[in-house]
Amino acid sequence: MAGGEYKRVHDRSVADIEQFWGGEAERIYWHEKPRAALDDSRSPFNHWFPGGQTNLCHNAIDRHLPARADQHALVYISTETDQTRTFTYGQLYREVNRLAGVMRGLGVGRGDRVLIYMPMVPEAIFAMLATVRLGAVHSVVFGGFAAASLAARIDDAKPRLIVTADAGMRMGKVIALKPLLDEALGLASVPEAQVLMLDRGLVSGAARVAGRDHDYARMRGVHMNDEVPCEWVPSSHPSYILYTSGTTGRPKGVQRDTGGYAVALASSMEYIYCSRPGDAWFCTSDIGWVVGHSYIVYAPLINGSTTILYEGLPTRPDPGVWWKIVQDYRVTGMFSSPTAIRVLKKQDPAWLARYDLSSLKYLFLAGEPLDEPTSDWISRGLGVPVIDNYWQTETGWPILTAQPGIEDTPRKIGSPSFATYGYKLEIRDEHTGAALGNGHKGVLCIVPPLPPGCMSTVWGDDERFVSTYFSSFEGPPVYTTFDWATRDEDGYYFILGRTDDVINVAGHRLGTREIEEAVQSHANVAECAVVGVADPLKGQVPVAFVVVKDSTRIDSPVTNAAHEQEVQRAVDAHIGGIGRPSRVHFVAALPKTRSGKLLRRSIQALAEGRDPGDLTTLEDPTALEQVRNALKAG
Ligand code: ATP
Ligand code: MG
Repeated sequence: MAGGEYKRVHDRSVADIEQFWGGEAERIYWHEKPRAALDDSRSPFNHWFPGGQTNLCHNAIDRHLPARADQHALVYISTETDQTRTFTYGQLYREVNRLAGVMRGLGVGRGDRVLIYMPMVPEAIFAMLATVRLGAVHSVVFGGFAAASLAARIDDAKPRLIVTADAGMRMGKVIALKPLLDEALGLASVPEAQVLMLDRGLVSGAARVAGRDHDYARMRGVHMNDEVPCEWVPSSHPSYILYTSGTTGRPKGVQRDTGGYAVALASSMEYIYCSRPGDAWFCTSDIGWVVGHSYIVYAPLINGSTTILYEGLPTRPDPGVWWKIVQDYRVTGMFSSPTAIRVLKKQDPAWLARYDLSSLKYLFLAGEPLDEPTSDWISRGLGVPVIDNYWQTETGWPILTAQPGIEDTPRKIGSPSFATYGYKLEIRDEHTGAALGNGHKGVLCIVPPLPPGCMSTVWGDDERFVSTYFSSFEGPPVYTTFDWATRDEDGYYFILGRTDDVINVAGHRLGTREIEEAVQSHANVAECAVVGVADPLKGQVPVAFVVVKDSTRIDSPVTNAAHEQEVQRAVDAHIGGIGRPSRVHFVAALPKTRSGKLLRRSIQALAEGRDPGDLTTLEDPTALEQVRNALKAG
């Protein structure tokens, strides 16, 4: 375990909650100061900063106006529409007040829900901020979701207002949104919902429903000079609802509070992300995901940073586009995902050397396991440390990460380092629930209280909150992450995959993640998925689906077979024959959720000749087709 400052801070954050978090609370503005840091009398329904009254929008904008009115708050860069728009804190304040005026005019008030179904445009961020300014609750639905997923989220949140746009753009193609919303509203049962549509001029003559649909530009004009005061809300007041990715089942509506979230994010910008007020910050996620909520919108703005909103792909117009942004805006901290870096890794590495990246201090990656080759490649290419963050939609900010703003601890490859301050973690035996020592594999759990910023409950379903997350073991309840982990003798954690991604080969339990890492050690493997497939002899056998870097090596079936053996041997060398995939199939793409997570369950279903299930969160339907074809080809 790191011996110094990190340990001291972490110990204090979990042992002396009142003193530690009471101090951290001073980072934000309170209209009414909290009387304590924590009220856990109704655990696991915790109440952070009871008695406190605040507002997220005030902390993100108004509070900075005296010092930063002319500093850039938001830089929007779209390589889809070839646009760059910048907003100072002063201009952001005006835009958000106008939109809050529009919303108020349409009847939105405290506690009402506003559903935001938007592409990556500044107006989406204005809508989030205007919503919380009014004390209303937003539910951002990823702009890539189709009508059925959207309808389910509309029914769950019952919004008074839906903010949308005529269309998004992807790879230069216009993707109409409004018709999908119209379809979703046909499926959903919220007759009173109003619609505010931003017309980007991408689709001509988008249909409007009289009396229900309002035009953003026209309404903005009407409310041009509105000043809308911030609604002061209790710390525990819900700020938003956000659904988990749905990788393992029915998405859960995570409900976030206001005060705890603001404090957690504010502290993280210093302790984890080493970003000072005024610095430029570039998070490449999407506002439809938790990383986007926390680290495109709220954390950088609460911190007084300049946040960059990027609409487009990392490879268009060329694979240097992100690094040019880093150079042009002197970005100091960047936050992305392993998936995105793997996409770039297939490109010419010369792109990493083309721009002046001297401003950049760290690259943070989150969302899925970070494999060693990807981590090495990007760290060497950029010349900065890569920091693996492990977290969940539920927590809103990292559970495991190095915290270089506290202490620059050495990083170990394949490990997201240590428990974040505020998180008291245990690795529990899956059967007995006993807390395990170093070196043992078990389920990663958080001992209550969940720190500030974590979910308060499942929206509209307190019972599901308790039964899903706090009911895995006998005895005093602990929060289950449903991920396997181990901790080594130095205190570093390793995530070994999801608890439902385990396969049982002839009585040996293997995490698909471990086998994937072994497959990935082969030099020609860009990406892979390993699933367990039913086998009459062994119970289950691992089967691998591989995307290669150099496809000329698998052109004919002969080299294919040779290549398959090479990959199998790589696994033998890493974990032994027990983990060896019985088959290695080569495909051009793997089925993933829209947030870039592998849909192993669907691949497995196909491999076992079953129905692949609910595919509404699928990124690219042709990827599933490829898996099907690869299986057919034998
Ligand atoms: P659902 O809960 O609906 O099945 P999901 O778990 O994919 O969906 P998210 O909250 O987006 O939804 O993802 C969190 C999960 O992603 C974690 O529980 C973990 O399995 C995985 N994950 C996130 N970051 C990392 C990381 N750095 N290393 C390994 N796994 C990670
Ligand atoms: Mg999950």
